[in-house]
Amino acid sequence: MEPDMEQLMEELHQCRRCGICRNAVYDAKGFDGICPVYENSTGFETSFMRGKIIVALALLNGELEKTAKSSESLFDCTLCGNCTQICPAEFEPAHTLELVRGVLAEVPNQVREEIAHKILSNNNPYEEDNSRKRKWISELGFDIPTNGEILYFVGCTAGMRIPEVAKNTAKILKAADLPFAVLEEEPCCGSVLLRTGKPEAAAETAERVSNAIKESGAKKIVVSCAGCLKTLKEDFPNKFDIELPEVLHILELADNLLQEGRLKPKALPGKNTVTYHDPCHMGRELGVYESPRRVIQAIPNVNLAEMETNRETAICCGAGGGLRSYNSELAKKIASRRVQDAVETGANILATACPFCEHNLQSGAEILGEDIPIRDVVSLLAECVE
Ligand code: SF4
Ligand code: SF4
Repeated sequence: MEPDMEQLMEELHQCRRCGICRNAVYDAKGFDGICPVYENSTGFETSFMRGKIIVALALLNGELEKTAKSSESLFDCTLCGNCTQICPAEFEPAHTLELVRGVLAEVPNQVREEIAHKILSNNNPYEEDNSRKRKWISELGFDIPTNGEILYFVGCTAGMRIPEVAKNTAKILKAADLPFAVLEEEPCCGSVLLRTGKPEAAAETAERVSNAIKESGAKKIVVSCAGCLKTLKEDFPNKFDIELPEVLHILELADNLLQEGRLKPKALPGKNTVTYHDPCHMGRELGVYESPRRVIQAIPNVNLAEMETNRETAICCGAGGGLRSYNSELAKKIASRRVQDAVETGANILATACPFCEHNLQSGAEILGEDIPIRDVVSLLAECVE
C-alpha cells in the first residue's frame, strides 16, 4: 500500500487558506465552532487544519526539518472530520492528514511507536493477555462458541476496558434468539494504527483479522465499537483490498430487530431524557445517524434530547486520532466540553455507541464534576430486553 505522493501533495495544495475550519459558527447549519482542538488549546494557527496543512507541506517539501518537535502539531488532531464537513475545497482534510501521518514514518514519535509495538506483540493496545477479550463471557450465564455464521467482533476496548458493552451486546443477540460466535483469539482491528500513521503495521493486523474471520465461518460481522466498524467496513476493502462479509454495528442490527418485533423493550425505570453523542467514525464517516436514535426512542419512557451540535456537525469526544495517547489532557478537556453540551440539554443520561467515546466522556465528566451517567445505547437497550 504505497502512498501516491503526487496525489497527496495535490490534495494538500487544494487548501484555499480560507480558515473556515478554524471556528466557523453557522447557526443555520447547526455548527457551533468547528475544531475541538482549536477551541480547547492555545489557538495558534497550527492547532486547526489550515496550519497543519502548511506544516505538512513544509515537511514534505523539505522546507522544514523532519523532527518530533516540528511535526508535533500534526498529531494534535482527533481526525474527527468536522473541518472536512465544512471545507469548501476539493479534498478531505482529515483523511489527507491521516495519510500525511503515514508517510512521515521516519519522523520519530514515541507514542505511535509504542502503540504499534504493543498492538503487534499483544494483539491489543493494552499490553494484556489477549484471551481476556473473552473473559466477560464467563459472567454471562451462557456460553458462546468460537465459530458461527454471525460473529460478534468485540474490539479491544469493549473486551478489556468496558466489558459491560460486550456483555450487553451478547444479551441483545441472545434476547433476539440469534446464535452468534466470538473469536478465540481476536486480533486488534488496527484502527489506532491507521489513525496514528502506521499503515504497514495496520496491514499486518488486517491480515491477522481477515484470516481469523475466515476460519470462524462468519457470514455476518457485528461490532459494538465505532472504530472497529469504520476499519472493518471501509478501510479493509479500500486500503488493504480485503473484503469481509457484511459488517454492521449492533445498533443497526438492533434497529432492524426492533422493527421486526424480534426485540420488545420494556420501560426503563423512571422518566428518562437521553441525549445522544454521535461517534465520528460512525456518524460523519459512515453516515449511521438514525439507527441509534431509533433504538433510544423505541424504549418506552425515554425521550431523546439533541445537543446543539449533532449528526454531521457533532463535536468529537476528544479521543479520536490517537489524541488520547498523544495529549491526554487536551483529549479530556475536549470531552468535558462535550459533556457540558449534554448537560445543557437537560438530559439525565448521556448515551453514545462507542466504548472509546464512553471512556473519554467519562473522564470529561470527572473533570467537570458532573455526575450525569454516561451509557452506551447498547447497555440501555440490554437493560430493557433481558
Ligand atoms: S482546510 Fe478547507 S476550510 Fe480549512 S483553510 Fe483549507 S480550504 Fe479552508
Ligand atoms: S479533524 Fe477535527 S480536530 Fe482535526 S483539525 Fe479537523 S476539526 Fe480539528
